[in-house]
Amino acid sequence: TSVFDVVEMAPDDPILGLNEAFKTDPRKEKVNLSIGVYCTEEGKVPLLKVVEQTEKKLAEAGAPHTYLPISGIPAFTSGVQKLIFGPDSEVVKTKRAATVQSLGGTGALKVGADFLATVLKNPEAVVSAPTWQNHVAIFESAGFKVGSYPYYDKKTGEIDFPAMLECLKGLKKDTVVILHACCHNPTGVDLTQEQWAQVVEVCRDKGLIPFLDIAYQGFGAGLNEDAGSIRQFADSGIPFFVSNSFSKSFSLYGERIGALTVVCKSEEEAKRVNSKLKSVIRANYSNPPAHGAKIVSAVLNDPVLLQQWHEDLKGMRERIKEMRHLLAEALKKEGAKVDFSFIEDQHGMFSFSRLTPEQVQRLKDEFGVYAVKSGRICVASLNKANVAYTAKAIKEVL
Ligand code: PLP
Repeated sequence: TSVFDVVEMAPDDPILGLNEAFKTDPRKEKVNLSIGVYCTEEGKVPLLKVVEQTEKKLAEAGAPHTYLPISGIPAFTSGVQKLIFGPDSEVVKTKRAATVQSLGGTGALKVGADFLATVLKNPEAVVSAPTWQNHVAIFESAGFKVGSYPYYDKKTGEIDFPAMLECLKGLKKDTVVILHACCHNPTGVDLTQEQWAQVVEVCRDKGLIPFLDIAYQGFGAGLNEDAGSIRQFADSGIPFFVSNSFSKSFSLYGERIGALTVVCKSEEEAKRVNSKLKSVIRANYSNPPAHGAKIVSAVLNDPVLLQQWHEDLKGMRERIKEMRHLLAEALKKEGAKVDFSFIEDQHGMFSFSRLTPEQVQRLKDEFGVYAVKSGRICVASLNKANVAYTAKAIKEVL
């Protein structure tokens, strides 16, 4: 016998599993719309110009690989605050937010969840139905009881906002409410700024703890527009959390770079929270990796590089929008039975296509077009060479 006899096989990640199947699919015309990665018109993960330049400079400088401070590079965390709250934000000026560097957006969620678990007596959290599955896994692993609030209405393809608000109103004080700040994953359907204002009000009235996850800032309407929800919470004066990621916006997936920000009531409180976040990090992985943080902080703190990043990001955002348009048009041209114009109204890398699991299966089996079982497609993987074929395949399975 072995001590590991009790270990059962953990289930495969369904999306990564699809990716593996895609790789070995011999069909030439295959299209991978399952994984959440932005690809260029040539079907490649981009190396942003601004990243390439900055990396060159870093290599030339030839600095040794020392440890970073536990909470990361100070110029990075201050740059993050300006990016998410805006440079003239009261939160930034009064120093009432604590920001720590994290291992991507996932790491920020994990540090935030671990910290909250030390603060709350019976930690409970709710996520949107549906959500990015790791939200549930991360908060459960930190000891939370995780429930959900209504969000996407399958019948209308829109948000069931009255049901969402009703549910939030019924939550216990101190329930953590995980919200997608923009570019909702997996649906692509976002709240309007007016709806956000109502969510802020309910969170304040009911003493809920908002946790805004922003993994796609700049992929929706623009860097500032996409942070509108965060800025409304900042104006409200209530405490809240922000996990942000540079995986997508800098195309730095493997460098694991993001940040956790906790907005407090005062600078003094932020200092105490910061010290506790550092204890959580220290006991987990001691201190964060340096390379991605060096790149991002160099860019965020240099007006010329910053402008260049804005251009790079605009290029990605506009290409996604063009692909949404081309897919909707191509489906119309194919004479698809269903009106797919809603794809153009959705934001970010993902769309809920409203295809059924059976239709998704047929797409894969008959056409080599890979989507997630829920019907989620990554529109950022479409390009001019595969969009017509994808539309034809979708039309055939309807
Ligand atoms: N949050 C959401 C909603 C996401 O979709 C993702 C990535 O897919 C993340 C967080 C985590 O991103 P990262 O790769 O930076 O950990």
